Amino acid sequence: MRGHILRKVLISALLTCFYIPSAAVRADTVVESVGWPDVSFDQAVPTLESVLGYAPGERITSVDQAHTYLRALASALPERTRMVEYARSWEGRPLVYFLVGTEETMARVDEIKAGMQALADPAELTDGRVESLINDLPAVVWLAYGVHGNEISSTDAGLQTAYHMLAAKGAPFDTIRENTLVAIDPSQNPDGRERFLNHFRETYGIAPSTSAIAAERREPWPAGRTNHYLFDLNRDWLPLTQPEVIGRVATFQEFFPLVHVDIHEMGTDSSYFFPPPAQPFNPHYVDEQEQMLDAYGRNNAKWFDRFGFEYFTQAVYDAYYPGYGDSWPAFHGSVGMTFEMASARGLAGERRNGEIVTYADGVQRHFVTSVGTIETASTNREAFLRNFAEYRRSADAGEHGGPREYLIPLVGDASAVHKLAANLVRHGIEIRRTIEAGSACDSAMPEGSYLVSSRQPAGRMVRTFLEQESPMAEDFLAEQERRRALGLRAELYDILGWSLPSLYNVAVQPCDRVSIDAEVFDGSGVPAYAEPASSQVGWLVPWGTQAAGRFLAAAQRAGLKVQGADEVMTISGRRYERGTLVVRIADNPQRDAGELHMMMSHLAEMSGAEVVATNTSYSEEGVSFGSSSVMSLPAPRIALAWDDPTTSYSAGNTRFVLERQYGYPVEPVRVEHFPADELDRFDVVILPDGGDYASALGERGVDRLKEWVGRGGVLVTMSGGMRFAAQDNVGLLPMDLERLADGKPEGEHEGDLVDGTQLKDQDAYQSAILPEAPRPDSIPGVLLRTRTTTDTWLSAGVNDGVAFMVEGRDVYRPLTLDEGWNALYFEAPENIEAGGHLWAENRAQWAFKPAVVQASYGDGIVIGFVADPTFRAALDGANVVLLNAVLRGPGHTARLR
Ligand SMILES: [Zn+2]
Repeated sequence: MRGHILRKVLISALLTCFYIPSAAVRADTVVESVGWPDVSFDQAVPTLESVLGYAPGERITSVDQAHTYLRALASALPERTRMVEYARSWEGRPLVYFLVGTEETMARVDEIKAGMQALADPAELTDGRVESLINDLPAVVWLAYGVHGNEISSTDAGLQTAYHMLAAKGAPFDTIRENTLVAIDPSQNPDGRERFLNHFRETYGIAPSTSAIAAERREPWPAGRTNHYLFDLNRDWLPLTQPEVIGRVATFQEFFPLVHVDIHEMGTDSSYFFPPPAQPFNPHYVDEQEQMLDAYGRNNAKWFDRFGFEYFTQAVYDAYYPGYGDSWPAFHGSVGMTFEMASARGLAGERRNGEIVTYADGVQRHFVTSVGTIETASTNREAFLRNFAEYRRSADAGEHGGPREYLIPLVGDASAVHKLAANLVRHGIEIRRTIEAGSACDSAMPEGSYLVSSRQPAGRMVRTFLEQESPMAEDFLAEQERRRALGLRAELYDILGWSLPSLYNVAVQPCDRVSIDAEVFDGSGVPAYAEPASSQVGWLVPWGTQAAGRFLAAAQRAGLKVQGADEVMTISGRRYERGTLVVRIADNPQRDAGELHMMMSHLAEMSGAEVVATNTSYSEEGVSFGSSSVMSLPAPRIALAWDDPTTSYSAGNTRFVLERQYGYPVEPVRVEHFPADELDRFDVVILPDGGDYASALGERGVDRLKEWVGRGGVLVTMSGGMRFAAQDNVGLLPMDLERLADGKPEGEHEGDLVDGTQLKDQDAYQSAILPEAPRPDSIPGVLLRTRTTTDTWLSAGVNDGVAFMVEGRDVYRPLTLDEGWNALYFEAPENIEAGGHLWAENRAQWAFKPAVVQASYGDGIVIGFVADPTFRAALDGANVVLLNAVLRGPGHTARLR
C-alpha cells in the first residue's frame, strides 16, 4: 500500500528508468487518496480535479489556484458560500476567508455575526436573550491554514474541507453542516507560501527527491515560513504589526468563532500533534477551556485511531504566550488550537528510518482533524456557546480577581502612550480616555490619559497583556527548577515575558478606585499635532519620542540639514534635554523661511512630533547651536546584512522597523558581497542577529569590514552580530562573554590520569557530572529593564527603564572607561525583570551588565546591542536608542564627506 501520488509518480518514474525507489518502508498508514470514506458526493459541486486538473494531494496548490477553486465552489453554490477578502499582504496578495453553511445559515450570516457580538457582552443582555441566542446560533468554526508558508499541506486540506462540507452526503457531514458555520482561511501567509512554491518549482524534476538534503526540500534563506518582512505571523497576535494579522484580529471580532484552529507542519520525523497542549498554561485560561480542548482532542483521536494515524498530545506545544493564533482567541473566550503534521516539505519526504511521508498524507490528516473539529463543535454547540458567554460574563464581573483598573497616564512619550491605547482597541479591549485632568492612586492623570478596566468581557486579556508577569503554575515551575539543577533544558516553547507596557516603555499602574471623567476611546482621534510657529532662526524638536524619530527620518530623507544637540540647552526659558534636534534656516539656504516653515508644519503633522519655533540660538544655560556638541546629522545610507548567516527574523524585522515604523529606507546587502568596494557608499552597516559571520565573510570580508569602520563607518551589531564583533580574532568590540558566575571551575586535565575521588552520595554524583566552566543558563525570552548613562550621545532621549527581550546566554563584562561606553546597562537584581520569570542566578548575574555598548574603532564607531532591539518589531521602547545608533551615529564619526 503506497501513497496515491507516490505510486503515480513511481510508475512514471520507473518507466523512464531514472528513479530507483528508496522508499522501501512505508509510513504508519500511507494515504491512498484524500477524502472521507463511505460518503457520496453531489455531482453539481466541482471537484479539485475538475477545476485545477489534479487530484487532492497530488500537487501543491498555489494561493492563486486555491482562490480559483474556492471561486469555482462559490459560483456553483452561491447560496451556500461566501468568499471575503480580509487583508492584503505586503506583496499585494489578497487574504480571504471562505464561509460554508446550509442555505438557511448562509442567509443569516449578518444576523449570526450580530448574535455572536451580542453574546460577547452578555451583561448587556437579559437572561432570556442569552438563552435564545444560545438556542439559535450555529457553532462558528474558524479553520486557518498555512500561517507558516512552508508548512504546505494544510491549504489543500482546507480546500477538501470546503468541498466535503458542500458536496458530501452521509455521516458525519449531513449533521455537522446543520449546526455550524465554517470559515476556511486557505492561506494565512500567501507571500510565504509563494516563496516556498517558487523555490519548489525551480528545483523539481520528474519525481520527488525525498532526501532530507534534496534541493527541493531544503529552502535557501530566508525560507517560506515568514511573510514579506520575515515576521513569524504566529507570534504577531500580540504586537499586531503585520497587515495579515491585523486583518485576522478584526475579522475574529466580527464573528467571535467558538473555535479557531491554526494548522501547521513540523519536522518530517514526527507524527501529528493536536490538543490538549503541553504545560505551562497561561493562568487566564479557565477550566471549561481546558475541558473543551480535551473534547476536541478526544474526537480527533477517535478518527485518527480509526484511520490508523499516529499522533501525540500534551507535549512540546504549550499555551502560555498569548500572541499565537491558538492562544489569543482564548482570551476572548474561544478555544484556540494548533495542529501540527510531519511535513513532506515537498511532495514526498523521507524519514530517518526510511519511511516516506507524502504531501497527501499531510492533506488527509489535516482534513480529518478539520472535519473532526467541526464535528466536535457541532455536537457540543450549545454547551460551547454557553461556555463562551460565561467566560465573558465572569471576566466582566471581575471573577478573575486582579485590580479593577489600569491607569495609562499621558506622560513621557505621548506617541507611545497613544500607540499602546490604539493597539489595545485593535485587540477588542474597551478603553476610555479622560476628558479632565485628575489623579488616581497617587498618579497624576493629565487630560487625555487612558483607563482600562479589567471588569470587561476581555478582562483576562487585559490582565495578561498589561501585567508584568502571568504566573506559571507552581508545580510546573518546581519541575523546571528540578530539571535545571540536573543540567536539563527547561520545557518552554517561547518567550516568558510580553507585558505591553514594558515593550512600549509606557507606565501603566493598577488602581482600584478611579473617579475621573472619561469617554470611550475607539482608537481614532488621537490628539492633533500642534502647528509650529514661523521663525527667523529655526526650530527645535525635543528628542526621545517615537514621533521625534519619525520627524528626523523624514527630515533627513527630505534633504534638510538637521543638527542634534548632545548636551542640555536652555532656550527662551525652556530646558531641552540631550538629543534635541535643531533645524536652522541659515543651514538650509536653498529654502527661504516661509518654505521651511511649511515643511516644518508638514513634518510635524506627519510625524506627530513637537516642533518649537525659536527666534534665538542663544542658550541661557548649556550649549548653543554653534557648539561642537551640536552635531550635523547628515542623511545616512544604511546597509543591512542580508541572507546567510543572518537570522531572517532579525534582518527582516530590523528592516521593517526602520522602513515601516520610521519611514527610512535600508538597503539589504548579502553578506557574501561585503568585500566589494561598493561598501564605501554606505555610512551605516547593520549586522542583525546571526550565526557565524566570521566564516561567511571570510578573512577578506572581515578585513574589509574593519577597514570600512576604521575609515569612519558606523557598525551597528545586534546579538549574534555583536558576538561576531566581540570575537578575539575579529576585535571590533573589546568585549568578553562571561562564564556562569559561581559555576563549577575548570579542573586540571593534564595527562590521562586525574586524582581519585569518593562520591559519598547522590548529590556528590550530581555535582560530579555537571560540566566545568559552564556558560550561564539560557534565558528563553524575558524582558529585562535597563538604566542609561548620560555620558554618551547614544543614550540621548533614552529614559531609565527601557526593556529588552533577552534570549540566550550572552552576558558580557562591562566595558571599562578606557574601552568605551556602556550606554545602557541592565538594572539592579531587584528591579531587573520587566516581564516574565527569570531564574535567580540569571537575575544575579545579568544585573549591571551591558545592554547597549559603544566603542571607537579607528575613525569609526562600533555599537553593540546585546539583545535584538527590533525583536518582533514589538520593542518600541528600544527604538530611540536604535535610531540614535543608525540616524545619529554618522554625525559622530570623523568620516570625510
Ligand atoms: Zn508552523
